[in-house]
Amino acid sequence: MTTGDPKAFAQTPPEHPPYLWWAGRQVPWESATVHVTQVGWTAISAVFEGIRAYWNEERQELNVFRLEEHLKRFAQSIRFMRMAQTYSPQQLTQAIRELFRANGLREDAYCQPLAYMGRSVPGYLAADDVPSEVFITTRAAPSNLGSARLLHCCVSSWVRISDNVMPPRAKAITNYQNSRYVSNEARINGYDAGIILNDQGKVAEGAYACIVIVRDGVAATPPRSAGILESITLASVLELLGEMGVPVEVRDIDRTELYVADEAFLCGTLIEIAPIGSVDRYQVGDGAMGPVTRALEERFTRVVRGQDPGRSHWLTPVHESVGVGPR
Ligand code: PMP
Repeated sequence: MTTGDPKAFAQTPPEHPPYLWWAGRQVPWESATVHVTQVGWTAISAVFEGIRAYWNEERQELNVFRLEEHLKRFAQSIRFMRMAQTYSPQQLTQAIRELFRANGLREDAYCQPLAYMGRSVPGYLAADDVPSEVFITTRAAPSNLGSARLLHCCVSSWVRISDNVMPPRAKAITNYQNSRYVSNEARINGYDAGIILNDQGKVAEGAYACIVIVRDGVAATPPRSAGILESITLASVLELLGEMGVPVEVRDIDRTELYVADEAFLCGTLIEIAPIGSVDRYQVGDGAMGPVTRALEERFTRVVRGQDPGRSHWLTPVHESVGVGPR
């Protein structure tokens, strides 16, 4: 192919599912459009959720992981933005289950509800009575669990946004500019991911995930006041570690603890549980996935695949009839 070949510049349209959910109903993907003047300003107030669903081959079922907790955080984020809640968690649960079914996803998948100021109100206006509008998309998202791929991380020169600047507790679109600085810097400098320190100089989290280290058999993670997003994966992981008999400390973590940790991993919805192989080119542990991380990943995998009856309440089946409430 030469540079003069028009095919070199041909755009293949991105693949998309047949439907998304918008303003209270399922609509064909192509018909969900807004006017160009809506681009930009409406995003200032936008908040969203990232939710995974795992395919259970044996039961031919797609199970949404911790849907109730995600919808609770979604409601909190909407509240932070002083937008009025338009849809109840029950309505959103039903919408998500129906959308997964309509899009025929029978594989590991991802779902993203996004709320913004409705009625064409630009997000820079300080209106506290504007109903939020919501759209929801779904897509296939193969799980990385079991890949044992190690991440080589750097500590970013960027500082995490703080509670009195841009509350990291809200899962707001605008907060992700901070994350983009971190991950772009990491990538440009040849790392897989960046770890960000907070305004106190303590470890906060990854750009899109929380962090856990293991030292002398004790797992440690920064507190929710450290400038982190209150992660649903982290909460799940800490609960499972406790059950596995691994002591857990929630405390400030210094940057140099990353250099002497026996194990470290990032955790979050998309990244799941991702072992860290090095930080700033200091090898973590013996440079392979450590025993605590491995045992945790195995346990987590059983949970999300529906093979842990004690944790079935973390899963909302998409096909099975469960009534309308989140479970
Ligand atoms: N921190 C940030 C900045 C994130 O974007 C994410 C991903 N949502 C997380 C942490 C992990 O949160 P969760 O486990 O709820 O996905």
